[in-house]
Amino acid sequence: MGNDKSSAVGLGVEAKPAVRRKPINRQQLLLRPVEVEKLIEEGHPVRAIWELVGWLNLEPFYADIEAVEGVAGRPVWDPQLLISLWIYAYKDGVSSAREIARLCEYHPAYQWLTGLEVVNYHTLADFRIHHQEALDRLFTDVLGVLSHEGLITLERVMQDGTKVNACASAKSFRRKKTLQDHLRLAREQVQQMGDPKSEELSQRVAKARQRALREKRQRLEGAVKELEQIEESRSKGSKDRNKQVRVSTTDPEARVMMQAKGAYGPSYNVQISTDARAKIIVGVGVSQSTDAGELEPAVERVEANLGDKPQQMVVDAGYTTQDTIEAMAQDQIDLIGALPERGNSRWDPLKRCGKSPEFYPQAFTYDVSTNGYRCPGGKVLLYEGEERKGGWLHRRYRARASDCQVCSFQTQCCPGTRRGRSLVRREQTPALAAFEAKMQTTEARQIYKQRAGVAEFPNAWIKDKIGLRQFRLRGLFKVTMEALWACLTYNICQWIRLCWRPQRLVQA
Ligand code: SF4
Repeated sequence: MGNDKSSAVGLGVEAKPAVRRKPINRQQLLLRPVEVEKLIEEGHPVRAIWELVGWLNLEPFYADIEAVEGVAGRPVWDPQLLISLWIYAYKDGVSSAREIARLCEYHPAYQWLTGLEVVNYHTLADFRIHHQEALDRLFTDVLGVLSHEGLITLERVMQDGTKVNACASAKSFRRKKTLQDHLRLAREQVQQMGDPKSEELSQRVAKARQRALREKRQRLEGAVKELEQIEESRSKGSKDRNKQVRVSTTDPEARVMMQAKGAYGPSYNVQISTDARAKIIVGVGVSQSTDAGELEPAVERVEANLGDKPQQMVVDAGYTTQDTIEAMAQDQIDLIGALPERGNSRWDPLKRCGKSPEFYPQAFTYDVSTNGYRCPGGKVLLYEGEERKGGWLHRRYRARASDCQVCSFQTQCCPGTRRGRSLVRREQTPALAAFEAKMQTTEARQIYKQRAGVAEFPNAWIKDKIGLRQFRLRGLFKVTMEALWACLTYNICQWIRLCWRPQRLVQA
């Protein structure tokens, strides 16, 4: 009614003409010419990826290809294309083969790469995990390019570990008995499986069900095997010996680890070595344990990739164990790192068991004549034995129970125990003493201050830009491949940022 001209005139209001809008025709069919080369601009990073991958030696990827010229059969996708697709996808935070296949249908950068073809997701998924040696070689070749550009010197390498969630839920962890029950049931179900042709369901559905049951049985068998290995690896005298072991039925090789902010969850520990010159990743590995004991394998990986050992390694307190300090001294690698702090954290075990700070180990003095320690109450703690734990050799000393029971300091020094007070000291070796003395110097402290800025940069990039907060694949081998793809992508991004210029600009 408001647009009715006659009524508007009747009311004495001047009528406003109707707005003229552009019609949308969704019934039309169009044929558009597409110039593939013009789909993306000259300086697009996907061109840089294609260019760099093209320079590298891809022979190891060609080795398994059976399709050859002059013989019948379908041609295969060029490994240069599949590698470039994965690198570009990881760069954009896409780690799903299905998602890449979808992007090939409409995204200009993927269309430019494939020449408007669509690559099947099975091909992409298989390619990601089926070329471990070739991918290792590719990673090394990229390091060669970066080294040639002067971005890698190995003068100072920072080591850090970052926990990445496994593709498994915390609820998937089961004890041995539950696992064995589930496995027995799964085996029975597999045995009872009939011929898919005789099933009432369609053959495709029946086969899919059979495959799912077989995979479930294999996963459970893997979980039981993994659990038995963990039980065996626990040393006889260990406190954990009697603890119930649990293993994930979804990813048996994942381990429950403490993440940032103190939360626990099924994870893998991705070990990254970063050259301090331009923050290039020079080594990557994945571990199922904590950082302690991971420095020596990291040095070996760097040497395997670049043919030389780092001159200096900078690490946080998680790596500095006695074994590591000794090993670095033996390899003549300058180790810079913090020692694990004792007595200051909120997890301080001495505080938790009620000892007063005046009776902490610093208050006990070494007595050469007895090869023991003298306590604040004037009694002697005699040498009891030694134990190796977490990469450290510890010597244990103990006071006589009769001395402590009648001591007026007992409630502050060793509350709640009938045995005499014990004292654990690290064995002081020349290498450890030299390391402690070095870390008191201003120069070493200044170098250590750079650690977080360099070592944590690639970790943050891989998690925030590439999106590797949780692995998509399961099992140590496959997650290592995923981590390698992510680190390779990171290094190529650094090359694009620091070195690459579009061909047209170079020619001009
Ligand atoms: S409790 Fe034992 S170790 Fe502690 S001060 Fe007294 S005598 Fe010494």
